Amino acid sequence: MDDSNVIEALQRFADIDDPELDALKQCKTCERFLELRMFRRWNQSPDGHLYTCMECDGLHERLGNYHITVRQFILILQRQGWIDPVCGRLLTPATASVDHDHLCCKKDGSCGKCVRGALCVECNAGMGLLGDDPVRMLAGYKYLTQRYAVPPKEGYGRV
Ligand SMILES: [Zn+2]
Ligand SMILES: [Zn+2]
Ligand SMILES: [Zn+2]
Repeated sequence: MDDSNVIEALQRFADIDDPELDALKQCKTCERFLELRMFRRWNQSPDGHLYTCMECDGLHERLGNYHITVRQFILILQRQGWIDPVCGRLLTPATASVDHDHLCCKKDGSCGKCVRGALCVECNAGMGLLGDDPVRMLAGYKYLTQRYAVPPKEGYGRV
């Protein structure tokens, strides 16, 4: 941690109770209305804060491997109503992960054409581990909703 990080951390600590930072401001990137404390300080803007919220700050870098723009990612999230379509949890620019079709692009990144949507980290990882295979997932649903199989009794199968 260099000095500027220490100062920023102390500033953020002081910001928690500052009622002036309860005011809402619209993020230029994600278009959400958020409390002013969600925007890093920047003395060159009229309200002393950046135009883009903290959650959007790192998006450009994070999307680098997926070949979609920050704007495209925000449009995906807006289209989904900021909800993970699988588990129904609320997503934010910081918690949403990019889901892509692994049949098209095997690795972590995407060519940009095979991005399917935004998911929470767990749903994205879970479906990835099941090979993005809908038949397998349906079989998993059937397995989980049937009665538990009772362990066979000793001597099971003998007459
Ligand atoms: Zn934002
Ligand atoms: Zn989820
Ligand atoms: Zn692809």
